[in-house]
Amino acid sequence: MATFLFSDIIVGPITSRRLGASLGVNLLPAKRKICSFDCIYCECGFNPPKGTPPADFPETAGVVSLLEIKLKELAAEGKNPDVITFAGNGEPTMHPAFAEIIDETVRLRNIYCPNTRIAVLSNTTRIHLPHVFNALLKVDDNILKLDSALPETIQKINVPAKAFDLNRTINYLKRFAGKVIIQTLFVKGNVDGVPVDNTADAEVVAWTNLVKEIAPREVMIYPIARDTPVKSLEKPSPEKMNEIAERLKQVGIPVRVTL
Ligand code: SF4
Repeated sequence: MATFLFSDIIVGPITSRRLGASLGVNLLPAKRKICSFDCIYCECGFNPPKGTPPADFPETAGVVSLLEIKLKELAAEGKNPDVITFAGNGEPTMHPAFAEIIDETVRLRNIYCPNTRIAVLSNTTRIHLPHVFNALLKVDDNILKLDSALPETIQKINVPAKAFDLNRTINYLKRFAGKVIIQTLFVKGNVDGVPVDNTADAEVVAWTNLVKEIAPREVMIYPIARDTPVKSLEKPSPEKMNEIAERLKQVGIPVRVTL
């Protein structure tokens, strides 16, 4: 299966490996990835090459209107989703009206499907911005990426577009005071001949200690599941994933493993 970009703003509901019946909201342009990371495993493929003309983010009023139409339709059919999930073609917090859209989503959810959760999958690069931080505090599942405790591994796996300040990120992750879920993708392989492996013992020890320090509500760990832009990547074995989960459990952190 090739890497994949969404052409719609509202997607699904689809059955998510981790979240259940998920109504997706893609705040990024249609068929265009925009992300402040360029992860080697990204299911959307790589960011467009430098010099590619910019694409517009979808208009706020249009997003809210499409979401309302869909939620109304699902409520009428008795098929409310388990979760409304902000993910899509890149980093959702990069939408200039992200905070306003979250407020509107909370309002619509409360009207049409009060038992549905709201989740944001974000890569953490913008959590230091007050409007992003405060918006993430308003959602039920604030799911933030932390693939390694080691800056050099983050550089290799997540390939940040700008300098990534891990210490600042950790400080903000702690400021959520437990209202955060850490998501970590485990992977091994090599990129242009350079080995990458966040399942190695030293990696897992450092990551476990850091997660303990952040004290999230929960941790979600998962391997690659679909095609990736770097072809040499391997999926860690179920035994390795369970071993990593066990280390977290031993330090008292609830963990959900997707195999
Ligand atoms: S943070 Fe998510 S969208 Fe961005 S490059 Fe990584 S996997 Fe892709």
